[in-house]
Amino acid sequence: MDVRTCMREKLERLGFNFNQFSMDEFIAHIEEKLNREIRMIGWPMPQGMYGAWISIEDVDHEYVFYNTRYSRHQQVNSQLHELCHIICDHSTLKISPEKLKGLLEEKNLDPIFEQALLRSPDISQEEIEAETMAILVQEFVAECDRLKQLTTLSTNEHSRRYMEKVGFSRV
Ligand SMILES: [Zn+2]
Repeated sequence: MDVRTCMREKLERLGFNFNQFSMDEFIAHIEEKLNREIRMIGWPMPQGMYGAWISIEDVDHEYVFYNTRYSRHQQVNSQLHELCHIICDHSTLKISPEKLKGLLEEKNLDPIFEQALLRSPDISQEEIEAETMAILVQEFVAECDRLKQLTTLSTNEHSRRYMEKVGFSRV
């Protein structure tokens, strides 16, 4: 089976109704389906990095960082791309909640971004899968006439609350 067909089947199994697409609705559906909490965090990442997904040990929390140095359009794409890694159940860097909190407070996340991006020995295949699925999501959204929704980033309430707790007033 080619990657596109395989990703299409995975996406269909997710059972999301794209007529109701908004980034937040999509995320809420994935969270419920996979029984995980997904937190979207905008961050001034190093140049050349678009996004990174970091998983938290012992709790079902997934952190998606996306680079706020790029355009809003690129940020939306990065959110989708990382979500597709999560949907595909790819592997990623796992760290403890204390470690993440400490690094956020020190604003010293670059080393873990590097590690997260080098997460898998089969990284190129996973990149192809995530990017193929992200394109499919955009096509489904377009078919449902919801493209305007792809100009809006997730506002993800619980990540905002978490960031406030560790001392950031704005995400
Ligand atoms: Zn990727």
